[in-house]
Amino acid sequence: KAKEAGRARMTCYETAMDAHREERNALELDLRRAIETEELTVAYQPLVDASSCEMTGVEALVRWNRPGHGPISPEAFIPIAETSGLIEALGLLVLRKACKAAQQWPDLRVAVNVSPGQFRNPAFADYVRSVLNETGIEAERVTLEITEGYIIQNPERTRQSIERLKALGVKVALDDFGSGFSSIGYLRQFGFDRIKIDRSLTMDVLEDNRAREMLKATVALARSLDIPVTAEGIETEEQGRALQGFGCDELQGYFYGKPMPEPEIGKRLAVQLAAVLDEERGAAA
Ligand code: C2E
Ligand code: MG
Ligand code: MG
Ligand code: MG
Repeated sequence: KAKEAGRARMTCYETAMDAHREERNALELDLRRAIETEELTVAYQPLVDASSCEMTGVEALVRWNRPGHGPISPEAFIPIAETSGLIEALGLLVLRKACKAAQQWPDLRVAVNVSPGQFRNPAFADYVRSVLNETGIEAERVTLEITEGYIIQNPERTRQSIERLKALGVKVALDDFGSGFSSIGYLRQFGFDRIKIDRSLTMDVLEDNRAREMLKATVALARSLDIPVTAEGIETEEQGRALQGFGCDELQGYFYGKPMPEPEIGKRLAVQLAAVLDEERGAAA
């Protein structure tokens, strides 16, 4: 009897596994097609100067509106792209679109996320070089954001990859700092041009003393090493003020702007420019 029940349970478990596997396969197939047909789009989120709140850059964030399913978060499909060999094609598509888009915004920096699966490829720097050539964007306007996951596995190769990228003139930022096992040793060892502090820390800046002390200490340390710091996930003016007070030079979050389609960035830049001109005219009068 118990054996029978066990078998029934197992069958039900296996059925669930099969359903899961099927859904995953379908997702992978759709994703493959999305990359080939350029169904994927890129949204841009403002990066603002912490003292003036002016937009000085954007972060490119991939978007996928999966037919019949609606929008899917990159947190859900990037890992699938990673394990199914699609990440390089996906990453290249985003980099290309972002660099092309940035050519309409001559004064803005453009930050693009890089997956471990891209970073691991010794030819990655060559891809980056060809996109720079193809789009004509100035290398120093491009920041590649990497997370710590791969660094832990491969510190030596990380160092080499970063050196190759920096030799092209692009900037390299450490993303999601403070979200996992972030080691302060990374800051010293890898020559990052910027660090981005994860939302999981910044969101608690006003309520949680420990988060606040960690933020203060992290920003102070980065600054003493001459590494500029961006705070992610700022949703209120008070949070932004606090992080600017700790020494972050750049802020990002819904308070300053959500990720938006390409044309919206152009509009926002035009408004910003008009405001600056108005001010100058006011000062002259
Ligand atoms: P990330 O690079 O840390 O990007 C920031 C994420 O936080 C974005 O989520 C953004 O929409 C969200 N965010 C920004 N400000 C706020 C805020 O004030 N409040 C809240 N609640 N969220 C905020 P998104 O676009 O869903 O992307 C999630 C992650 O997926 C990214 O985290 C990045 O790791 C990855 N990702 C996105 N696009 C790409 C891509 O093109 N390539 C790769 N490899 N990864 C990507
Ligand atoms: Mg990022
Ligand atoms: Mg981040
Ligand atoms: Mg993050």
